[in-house]
Amino acid sequence: MYHAEFMSKPILIDPLKFAREGRSLAGKAPVGELDERIRSDLADASGEVSYQLDGFIDEVRRPALRIRLTAALSVTCQRCLDGMPFSLDTDSVLTLFTSQDKLEEACEQDDTLDAILAEPELDAIALIEDEIIMGLPHSPKHDDCGRDTLSLAKADKPNPFAVLAALKRPKSE
Ligand SMILES: [Zn+2]
Repeated sequence: MYHAEFMSKPILIDPLKFAREGRSLAGKAPVGELDERIRSDLADASGEVSYQLDGFIDEVRRPALRIRLTAALSVTCQRCLDGMPFSLDTDSVLTLFTSQDKLEEACEQDDTLDAILAEPELDAIALIEDEIIMGLPHSPKHDDCGRDTLSLAKADKPNPFAVLAALKRPKSE
């Protein structure tokens, strides 16, 4: 029998092969086993995140990954610190590049591009965790604390362009 801490093993994929062969990977990741960065933003660690990862070749023949996530989560209201339900529903595409130069060139030409370097082994769970973090509300608050604990968290998300800019910033500069 596996001990709980060994359950969230990485799911390693070769992203280029995954994209070129049009592979798919779907499953559910228990929230309680996700990275601490995510659990610390949540009011409780119950439930699970459904994920669907699809590899494909985009319209300009670049390998890419589409990541779709859904989950019913409970985030922490930043005013009263009570939990509030939040429905995570994200759909994003990561374009794969084989060199940092090509990646930067493509990002300069298209500032909406979400790009990563294709390493030979990519942890799909880590990828999903990064997407969850970007999909969580930045500073969720009830409309009316105490009276309104059941209303859905307002999707006060971080500015997507700021997030992209941060992603695209080269690490060594
Ligand atoms: Zn509140």
